Amino acid sequence: MSTKSVAASAVHNSTDTRSEVQRRRSFAIISHPDAGKTTLTEKLLMFGGAIQSAGTVKGRKSSKHATSDWMEVEKQRGISVTSAAMQFEHDGCVINLLDTPGHQDFSEDTYRVLTAVDAALMVIDAAKGVESQTIKLLEVCRARNTPVITFINKMDREVRPPLELIDEIEDVLGVECSPVTWPLGMGKGFAGVYNVHDDQLVRFDPGQDHVHTETEIYKGVHNQALKAEFPIEHEAFLDEIELVNGAGTPFDVDRFLAGELSPVFFGSAINNYGVQDILKALVEWAPAPRPRAAETRTVYPDETRFSGIVFKIQANMDPQHRDRIAFVRICSGQYFDGISMKHVQSGKKFRCSQAITFMARDRSRLQTGFAGDIIGIQNHGRLKIGDVLTEGENLELGGIPYFSPELFRIPRLKDPLKAKQLKRALKELGEEGTIQVFERLDGGEVMLGAVGILQFETVAQRLESEFGVNATFEPVNIHKALWVTAETEQMLKEFERANHRRLARDASGSLTFLAPTRQVLELAQEKWPSVTFHTTREYR
Ligand code: GDP
Repeated sequence: MSTKSVAASAVHNSTDTRSEVQRRRSFAIISHPDAGKTTLTEKLLMFGGAIQSAGTVKGRKSSKHATSDWMEVEKQRGISVTSAAMQFEHDGCVINLLDTPGHQDFSEDTYRVLTAVDAALMVIDAAKGVESQTIKLLEVCRARNTPVITFINKMDREVRPPLELIDEIEDVLGVECSPVTWPLGMGKGFAGVYNVHDDQLVRFDPGQDHVHTETEIYKGVHNQALKAEFPIEHEAFLDEIELVNGAGTPFDVDRFLAGELSPVFFGSAINNYGVQDILKALVEWAPAPRPRAAETRTVYPDETRFSGIVFKIQANMDPQHRDRIAFVRICSGQYFDGISMKHVQSGKKFRCSQAITFMARDRSRLQTGFAGDIIGIQNHGRLKIGDVLTEGENLELGGIPYFSPELFRIPRLKDPLKAKQLKRALKELGEEGTIQVFERLDGGEVMLGAVGILQFETVAQRLESEFGVNATFEPVNIHKALWVTAETEQMLKEFERANHRRLARDASGSLTFLAPTRQVLELAQEKWPSVTFHTTREYR
């Protein structure tokens, strides 16, 4: 069947599929390292009923490591390297939560995760405010008009004044804020947060490993009991609330969905406080999966036919089971056990009877999945980032970015006899997106490119533990590696012939210009006006 005839016959499905899609919420949790992302993730899972208590998955700096952290490097350095996907049901909704690495060296991975979600939850440390990594992540959200919910964490500490924090988020991140809750006091004098919509304050009751079942509720801003107990804090609170109610931005769900306005919540993740507000906002306000633009047509989430895009590859997530998993975001239709799919890039059939869903370290076999869900498909290297699976149609679902690396190294083997293993390992790691691998056209040494220096460390460690290869990395003088395209095939061929020495192919086979200096790059750009040099590339 041709693409056109499939497009024309892309019928919308039964009310069943539609209602399943409508109850999906897929979001990524983003923050600067240490703001409390992992803690909040655990608490969301706990309140969502997905884990028994956060005590089972204590902070990763203790001997036990957090649910969403998988890898050795994470355990040793206390940072999240991989992005975990977790699914749980809450209040009638199926929630797909994607963790993201906070450390900037792994931001490429985070950007890709942000293409697979419909909303983001931004965690801010109330003592620190907006930090560098938050700025970058929000840029990506803004570029995609992703709706963002804001959680200002650590109110149990002496932190910065809340009004100052709101101003900073608005000024630095360029996102209008609409506070839904407002804190009364902070640190030792933290009474709790007042919900502007419900006109009530839920009393802060510190405690880490339990889910509060009974909460003390205080009605109204002028509550006498609160005033008596927190006289100084209450006075400041009244002034602030007047400002928030008077000059603040009222919440507007359409503006939130357009990515223009962020509902803001205050709380303390470690004390389980304010977490339920977030879950409620996700269920009530966060968007269900939306249509996606493919090259030939728009793909609607409630269409009958399955389509999905690979946005992440992860090998050896579980050291006990050496495996390779492609994370697929379902864009339309329904996944079911035994579904017969087509791998669009190769044009071949793809039998998939083993999709899995994730509950962090635990996985279970998936029976059905709908648009918005993230499924894991075990495979032996056939699926690559950006690949599309459909039920027959040749769909091009682009949009997953690949960034021009800024750091370059040449791998050096300690044991030269392991060259073959190194080649195989780098191929896998390149396809996974752990590192960018460039093979020179002139047959010269393979070169690795990264956005952050820690990526090399991860690669060295994985080469050793997963492939038995000991390698060091030698810096190499490269100013930039840029992808090149030309107006015509002929022109690209000519460019290729003339610049053979400076060209390489990346893991996907895309032609890349390796410029040793800025001058060389500028000269090439001048000399070849019909060739375009790209700093980003979309996976295709
Ligand atoms: P991530 O790097 O963003 O994932 O941050 P973590 O969740 O690992 O938290 C960083 C540190 O902040 C840890 O020591 C947490 O125990 C601590 N933390 C998280 N939430 C809170 C909170 O609400 N209050 C306080 N005082 N500490 C918190």
